Amino acid sequence: MALVEAIGVRKSFGHTEVLKGIDLEVERGEVVCLLGPSGAGKSTFLRCVNHLETIDAGRIWVDGVPVGFRSANGKLHELREREAAHQRRDVGMVFQRFNLFPHRTALENIMEGPVQVLGRGRAEVRAEALALLERVGLAEKAGAHPAQLSGGQQQRVAIARALAMKPKLMLFDEPTSALDPELVGEVLDVMTSLARDGMTMIVVTHEIGFARSVADRVVFLVDGAVVETGTPADVLDNPQQPRTQQFLAKVL
Ligand code: ADP
Ligand code: MG
Repeated sequence: MALVEAIGVRKSFGHTEVLKGIDLEVERGEVVCLLGPSGAGKSTFLRCVNHLETIDAGRIWVDGVPVGFRSANGKLHELREREAAHQRRDVGMVFQRFNLFPHRTALENIMEGPVQVLGRGRAEVRAEALALLERVGLAEKAGAHPAQLSGGQQQRVAIARALAMKPKLMLFDEPTSALDPELVGEVLDVMTSLARDGMTMIVVTHEIGFARSVADRVVFLVDGAVVETGTPADVLDNPQQPRTQQFLAKVL
């Protein structure tokens, strides 16, 4: 089984169906870039993978576990919020806004999850957090508070914070969209190295260059449906669908 399997995922808000039967598989170690116009349902889909939204139909499995359910006596039972939070630990998520704790240092932000949520020992977690800061190129910023960091540095701390939970899967929702253009590259570089290290990633992005060089597969979503999927070369350089062609003509 693939690490992520989504079959027939449907989601409505009120009378508006924003996901109209999404099928998606992501293999272990694969990087999938999710592209598409604003309002296509990209964020909603990521939130469904992480059970931040419940789905109306279909099913999503992460590492063989049905998201939002546990099985007992041969049946699936819906999770309560506390159990869902437990399931969510395996999935790291990085948003457009970094949402770091403002009154904590970079190091403390990274240590928070493993210490508070996983109940691990501070000394061991601290050593790992320092190594993660090093990995995102911020070893010298351990004691800095978010306000003392640039947007790009804050986003790199946010990535390190997600990695501190040792996730099986990383979800990125337009992680560079809120950044000044000159800070985009440093965040994409961290994501690229993560991909090279074999992390499984679903990345919502408008950074076509990143998708072209890092994605194993590109999925193009419009109006809650997948209209085209394939290798970056197929989808980005030789799109078959008019909607994909129109979108790429605007962003390229
Ligand atoms: P994208 O990330 O591709 O821009 P979204 O997943 O954010 O798209 O949104 C898809 C559609 O769902 C949009 O029309 C949006 O207004 C709507 N939507 C998203 N979240 C909610 C919500 N919590 N309540 C109502 N409508 C929502
Ligand atoms: Mg979005």
